[in-house]
Amino acid sequence: MSSEVENLDLKDKEHITITWKDGHTSKYHVKWIRFHCRCEKCFRSFSGMYPLDTMKFPDDFYFKSANVADNELHFTTDYEIFENHCGRIPLDWLRVFCSCNQCFEKLTSERESKFDNSVTSSISYNDISGENGLFNLLGRILNSGFCLIHDVPNDDTPGQISDRIGPKFYTLFSETFGKNGNQIGDGPFQDYPFYEVVPGVQIIYPKRTDEKKSFTLLTDLLNAAEILRRESPDHFDSLVRIPATFQYKKRTESCEPFWFEIQKPHIEIDYFGKVVAVHWNPTMEGKLRIHQKDVMAYCKAHNAFDRILKQKSCQISLQLREGTMLIFNNKRMAHNHKGYDESSIKTLLHADDVKSKYVVLGHKLGKTAIPMKIGNRSSF
Ligand SMILES: [Zn+2]
Ligand SMILES: [Zn+2]
Repeated sequence: MSSEVENLDLKDKEHITITWKDGHTSKYHVKWIRFHCRCEKCFRSFSGMYPLDTMKFPDDFYFKSANVADNELHFTTDYEIFENHCGRIPLDWLRVFCSCNQCFEKLTSERESKFDNSVTSSISYNDISGENGLFNLLGRILNSGFCLIHDVPNDDTPGQISDRIGPKFYTLFSETFGKNGNQIGDGPFQDYPFYEVVPGVQIIYPKRTDEKKSFTLLTDLLNAAEILRRESPDHFDSLVRIPATFQYKKRTESCEPFWFEIQKPHIEIDYFGKVVAVHWNPTMEGKLRIHQKDVMAYCKAHNAFDRILKQKSCQISLQLREGTMLIFNNKRMAHNHKGYDESSIKTLLHADDVKSKYVVLGHKLGKTAIPMKIGNRSSF
């Protein structure tokens, strides 16, 4: 990818069109260029923030001049809020943030997770010590949606590993499996679908398991949604458009009462049409609050998606032996645990904190760390 300029075209004054040495063409709007100026007045390099007050600019303003010098685009506009402002943007930055369809496709595709149930994502406990070890662990969680940690010492807990990553995510519910930790039915579930911000990453440490009977099934919801889109586009559109209701309510005196109800579609897509979030837990679906004309389409689509999730080719089966910890992304991987002791411990983290830690460590260690899509409603 070249960031050397072959030609710069400013004919229409509202756009700059750059033809790069490798033949690629990028077109930038005057407002986009002005508001992303990287001079010291307009940009804070330590935070990546743009403190420029863009509301002070009129709707219409245009380029006055533009040229290339010192590997930067230099430009002026016919309206300005700073005296003698000459904008500067490094050419390699401009090239990376080209907004053409082809470049957006590349940027979003490289963040797509690949589902592969022929390989089990795992790492040994000894290999996660230090920052390099943690970086490797986080990379596996983000790429595969989960990672097993083998040979965990008895005195270690999910809390100790989570402390190295980010703040714990607390809910009203217990940090042990309890009675509901092992799920009924064969289908995969996401935990806590009734929250707006669903706890992203779970670390579970099964205790006193019966090795023959205990296992975990994982299913990649983002991958399953793409299968639904390919095989049944109408059902896919229905699950994007028609919302489900998730609820969890308890009014009994046996525990602190709670009352959760939220409406959201099962599948969310972003500006680019990419699947960026999936919400799935049939056991916590409440009353449908939708128009009657949509009931049939919703039910058919719901069942079509359920059938995909239950296909063997979409599932990963894991035996969690004593001394094995499982970390998985609850936003991406639906799960079904069977046969674990009620005292098994789970710790929750924000998926965004996991992603942040991965990128920060990558920068610090000089390693490539592309922040993968994590199912948090964003491709980036
Ligand atoms: Zn500037
Ligand atoms: Zn491009």
